[in-house]
Formats: sequence, C-alpha cells, structure tokens
Amino acid sequence: MNKEEIEQVDVIIIGAGLTGLTLAYHLRRLGRKVQILESSQHVGGAIQTFHQEGFTFESGPNTGVVGSVEVAELLEQQSDLRLIADPSAKKRLILKGGRFYPLPSGPKSGLQTPLISLGDKFRVLLEPFRKPGTDPDETLAHLVERRLGKSYLDYAVDPFIGGIYAGDPRRLVTRFALPKLYALEQTYGSFIRGAIAKRRAPKAPKSELITREVFATHGGLSTLTDRLAELIGRKRIHLGVSACSLTPHPEGHWEARYIQADESHCLRGRHIVTTCTAPQLQSLLPFLSEADLAPILSLRYAPVVQVSWGKRELSLPHFHAFGGLVPSLEDKQLLGILNPSACFPDRAPEGGTLLSIFLGGMRSPELIEASDEEIRQIVSDRLRRLLGIDYEPDLIRIFRHRHAIPQYEASSEARLTQISTLEALHPGLHLAGAIRDGIGMSDRVRQATLLAHELDGQLPTYDK
Ligand SMILES: Cc1cc2nc3c(=O)[nH]c(=O)nc-3n(C[C@H](O)[C@H](O)[C@H](O)COP(=O)(O)OP(=O)(O)OC[C@H]3O[C@@H](n4cnc5c(N)ncnc54)[C@H](O)[C@@H]3O)c2cc1C
Repeated sequence: MNKEEIEQVDVIIIGAGLTGLTLAYHLRRLGRKVQILESSQHVGGAIQTFHQEGFTFESGPNTGVVGSVEVAELLEQQSDLRLIADPSAKKRLILKGGRFYPLPSGPKSGLQTPLISLGDKFRVLLEPFRKPGTDPDETLAHLVERRLGKSYLDYAVDPFIGGIYAGDPRRLVTRFALPKLYALEQTYGSFIRGAIAKRRAPKAPKSELITREVFATHGGLSTLTDRLAELIGRKRIHLGVSACSLTPHPEGHWEARYIQADESHCLRGRHIVTTCTAPQLQSLLPFLSEADLAPILSLRYAPVVQVSWGKRELSLPHFHAFGGLVPSLEDKQLLGILNPSACFPDRAPEGGTLLSIFLGGMRSPELIEASDEEIRQIVSDRLRRLLGIDYEPDLIRIFRHRHAIPQYEASSEARLTQISTLEALHPGLHLAGAIRDGIGMSDRVRQATLLAHELDGQLPTYDK
C-alpha cells in the first residue's frame, strides 16, 4: 500500500544517534519543527545500553570526556542523569612485557616509569628547544617521535590512539586527528611551552566547564539518548525507515522520500542534515555523482569488536582503574580492557566486575570476521595471561562494529574541502556526524549544538 503525505518541517535529520538527537533537541528548544528519520528500530545509534544478569553494559561507547562546553551544558541540563566517574578512572594502565603499569601522571612518576626509555626521559627536557614541524600532513607517529622519542610513541601515544581511534598513529594526521596538539606545536613551538602558556593565558568564556572528567549516565548511556528522544517527542522521530533518498526541489526546499511500515512517504524540509557514516551517504544523496562523493567515501573506518564480560563476586584490586591500554608492539589483536565497574557504581552487581574488552581496530581489521568462538578464545586467553582471571564469566556478550571509528588520515583535507563545496553548491544540505569535527561523544554534542544555532539563525523568524 502506498500513501503519500507531504509534511513540511524546518529541518529533516537523518539518524537518531547522539548527533541527530542533540541537534533535534536544541532545534526544538529554539522552537523549530524537526523530523528525524532513522533506519534502525531504536534511537541512540552507536550508543546502546543492555541490562542482563544484574550487569549494565554498553555495545558501543562506555564513557565520554567533558571536553567541550556544549557537552558540559547538556549534562547540566540533564543533571539527574549525569554520572562522573570515580577518581580511580584517572588511573590508566599501559601494557609492557605482559604487565600493566600506570601511565605517569607527573614529573616524579614520569621519571620512575618503566614505560619510557632512559634516553627519552632526558630527551624530553630538550623538547621546548626543538623546532616546530613544517609538514601540515605530518602523522601523529612522526610528530611524537620527532619531539619526544620512540618510547613515547610506542608506550604512550600508540596505546592511547588504539583506545580512542582504534587507529594507527602512523596513518593518522595530527592536524585532523588531534588538532589541539597540532595547534600547541604550531602556536607555541613546543608542547611543554604551549602547555605552560595556555595555563597562564586568559581563559575563554565558560572554559571552566571543560573539566575533562570522565562521564557516563546513570543506568548506562542510553538513558541520555532516550531522554533526548522524549524531550524531542517520539512522534518527531520515525524509526525503521528504509530506502531514504534526499533531493533538492527546484522551489528551494528539500524532499526526503522513504518507506516506513511498507508505506512510502515524502517529507519536505528547508534544511536537511545527515549524521550517518560516509558509506551510508551514497544511497541517501542520489543527485550526487560517484565523483562528487569519492573524496568523502575515501574515509576509512576502524572495525571494532567489543566484548562485555561480567563476573559476580570478583574484585580486581590490581586492576582498579579506568582500564588498561595495549600498545600494538605488545599485542596485535587486543586494543584495551576497560573496567567500567571500577568507575561507576551501577555497572555490576555488588562485589562483581564488568569489563569491556576492545579487539581489532586498524591493527587487526580482519577480527571483525572472527566467529564468536574465536573471539571468546582470544578474550579468555588475554584475561588469563594479563589479569590472572581463569573463571567462566556470568555474562559475555560480543558486539561487532564494522564502521566503528572514522580515521582522520591524509585524505581528510580533500574530504573536508569536498564537504564544504557540496554544501555551498546545494544550500540547505549539511553533512554532519563524525565524518568531520571529531569522533568522540563530546565532539558530536558540540557539532550538533553549534549547527542547531547556525540553522536557527538561517531560518525565518516568522516560522517559530
Ligand atoms: C565501539 C565504539 C566505541 C566507542 N567508544 C567511545 C568512547 O569511549 N568515548 C566517546 O566519546 N566516543 C566513543 N565512540 C564514538 C561515539 O559512540 C560516537 O561519536 C557517537 O555515538 C556517534 O554518534 P552519531 O550520532 O554521530 O552517529 P551514530 O551513532 O552512528 O548515529 C547515526 C545514525 O544514523 C542512522 N542512519 C544511517 N544511515 C541512515 C539512513 N540512510 N537513513 C536513516 N538513518 C540512517 C544509523 O542507524 C544511526 O542510528 C565509540 C564508538 C564505537 C562504535
């Protein structure tokens, strides 16, 4: 059965992940009419919380960082949900020679750590006097090795990048992947001089809100995305949408055609915003040629397998930390083991442990194809060898993310230029989401909040 109903809204948003929901939430607060179209049957996108056997666990992100004013304000607006991690979350461990060591947190522990070579401990003293780089496309690995030394790359930056990007610092370009680090060297000539100067510099408005604390939400991160969905209004979110295609109309608006519950629908909007991954853009934007999209489609994604592992009545005092990150020199399959139950009170039954184990990434992309049995074997082998855990778990769930984390590599310049070109050529089209502006939840909230205000400024005031 086909039924054509043409509704007109201010903004059509593709995707009910954190970006789309935050955008719609702010637009609704600004009095705008929005409609979200979501292909899956649930809101939250990569954020999905599960409850089983008394454990609360995530299939995607476990935690975020209060790294932008926008995420701090969103958490403040939903303060009953906000959950800031236990101070033990400050402790991060790095694997070396089959043992986890704390990442140094100050000069004394920096001098004592076995993670960094003696030569590099002295070499770092000369860091303020090294010339800044001149290659704007310098990789993170090259920059770190040049300024700090190889052991900093191998035992600090590589595992950190494995944990955040599931990526390879030898491929990520600093300017795009860690723009603040790039700016530190370019502006102040050195990381150390830059860090000191920034501490003394006058603070930007509201910068005190950027605490860099680790956050989650009570009951798991889905409580935040579910709350946003309630505030937007469930009828403003169409789930289970398929065959969605967006086209510009000669009269200046946009049309979204899609199928929902076996019926075809058409929606009109002044603006459309996509929040999906690069490969998903192709079918959404049929008016663009392959050549138009090629620079965006060249974005590579790290595939990630995440395993939630829980055991009642198990405490791991030697692993009471945010988690342990794993250098690629030490293990080609394991990216890291997080310990959400050490950070948050409600993730495991009293006295129990919930671990979140990340495998694959760019160092072992083929693991995404591994069977459940193979994944279980890798997990039990690593837990036995690294944490001395030799028990059958009470909970084990395996989640596979084929396009988990976009890799901001050398192709980024061409991709970002093409996004700007396409947006300029097609007024009202906005290509958002993690294809630009950062990969973390804090970045997603910031992008969506700023875009909401930008779109509100472009929409006629009489529409409110
Ligand atoms: C395994 C994993 C671990 C992570 N860990 C962390 C972490 O520790 N900290 C952190 O800050 N961030 C982490 N992230 C990143 C964080 O999850 C993302 O930045 C954020 O959730 C992305 O939100 P989004 O809305 O941009 O995209 P998504 O959540 O991907 O949402 C996009 C939505 O668009 C929908 N969609 C796609 N195509 C269409 C279409 N054609 N029509 C309709 N709908 C469509 C999808 O179904 C999806 O719901 C992690 C991500 C993953 C996958």
